[in-house]
Amino acid sequence: MQQMQEFSIHTHTKIGDGYDTVEDMILEAKRSGLKTLGISDHFWAVSYDLPNYVKAIRAAQDKLQFDVLIGLEIDNPSDDRLEMLYKIKKEYGFDYFIGSLHDVPYNGKKYYVGSKEDKNILQSQTYQQTYWQTLPNLANDLFDIIAHMDLIKLTGVKTEALYEADIDKALKAFKANNQIIEINTKHHQIENEPSDTILAKVAKADIPVIFSSDAHIKHQLIQHFAEEQRRLAEPLAKMRYISKSDELRQFLQSRHGPRTK
Ligand SMILES: [Zn+2]
Ligand SMILES: [Zn+2]
Repeated sequence: MQQMQEFSIHTHTKIGDGYDTVEDMILEAKRSGLKTLGISDHFWAVSYDLPNYVKAIRAAQDKLQFDVLIGLEIDNPSDDRLEMLYKIKKEYGFDYFIGSLHDVPYNGKKYYVGSKEDKNILQSQTYQQTYWQTLPNLANDLFDIIAHMDLIKLTGVKTEALYEADIDKALKAFKANNQIIEINTKHHQIENEPSDTILAKVAKADIPVIFSSDAHIKHQLIQHFAEEQRRLAEPLAKMRYISKSDELRQFLQSRHGPRTK
């Protein structure tokens, strides 16, 4: 039997749009038998005061004596913001950045893929195509992990089969940039992101994977990890599945050196 993944690093706290404090999340990580917790609040939610975001996490880490990685989840940045983001990653000594695609432009306006309104726009060919064709933008040195790769299916239509060439292109770019793809269990009741079909492509491309819960509440911290590890045991055995904290840390450090602060 496979051992439980030692970390959960796509998580949100009260500082961002989550519900629990960093301390609550650490205590939950301890209770869950994890070795490492990563905090990755949305950049848009914490960018108004990054020093305090980092300080609050470090303070909780010191107080509770637990291994905590400090990260951010960042939406597909425009080219003119990349330099600023590289700078803050280094300046604050972030351990990792997660790259995401939540919003897609349509006629000059951005629409959230999970919106309950504007379904005609969200399900249109133009919108769907823009999502898949924007994905390779997340391939760079900045992002260590690619979040919920096919979140677009929250629109209620599943178009991955129509955009296989674009998916292949994105995977090739992620591989070339030595990035990790997360298996996000947040919408597990419907389906993980990415789907099993895309995951097979990830395996073929030899891209490392981890499980992420995208927890916004502490009890979601390792939600569905064990059952999905069991269900996917066969493909995972042939994949570069990173499940140990040491391995994860080594991987992150190999991308951008050890944390300086
Ligand atoms: Zn996200
Ligand atoms: Zn998230």
